[in-house]
Amino acid sequence: MLAGTPSVFIRLAGCPVGCVWCDTKYAWDANEGEELPIPEIVNRIVQWPCRFVVITGGEPMVNQQLPDLAKALKERNKHITIETAGIKFVAGLACDLMSVSPKLSNSGQKTKTTPDPFSPVRQLIRRYPYQLKFVVDSPDDLPEIQRALEQIGGVSAEKVMLMPQAKIRDELIAKSPMVAELCRETGYVFCQRLHILLYDGERGK
Ligand code: SF4
Repeated sequence: MLAGTPSVFIRLAGCPVGCVWCDTKYAWDANEGEELPIPEIVNRIVQWPCRFVVITGGEPMVNQQLPDLAKALKERNKHITIETAGIKFVAGLACDLMSVSPKLSNSGQKTKTTPDPFSPVRQLIRRYPYQLKFVVDSPDDLPEIQRALEQIGGVSAEKVMLMPQAKIRDELIAKSPMVAELCRETGYVFCQRLHILLYDGERGK
């Protein structure tokens, strides 16, 4: 919902999900990147002239430092978005927008299936302001999205975002009309991948 709003991104290392089309596979390893104390992260963040901070990954919910990091950012009056695949519920986070992206079968994710795989998603969206984002590879994904929404329950269409699956700009442009058409049919929101559109997948931008 905040695409285009100037924001600083904190990418936490480590993700157990393993999506086949992941555009940040370098972030899967929890030892990737720099290890920084929270005051140093906050110090770097406040150098930027914007209030919006996005904590992403990897999968932030598996990082034990997440609650303290979010709290420290909130103490500096930052607007905090947390991006998660919705695999784990963490209570009491300082969070202004929980951006939950449950993975469909097109992700080939290796997370174990449980009797109620959407339980963490349900808890997250009950406790935090949220958006639900689905990565769409083809129109065939729509029935699975609708089944997922039925299982999650109580989600209005304007909270549901469809994002084209694409790692490079040409792929994004090719798939966008298909996803836009699904949004027209359903009332869901088209979700841009601005980082791909602007920087064509280049790391560090
Ligand atoms: S959950 Fe996100 S970071 Fe993890 S593999 Fe999937 S797309 Fe990549």
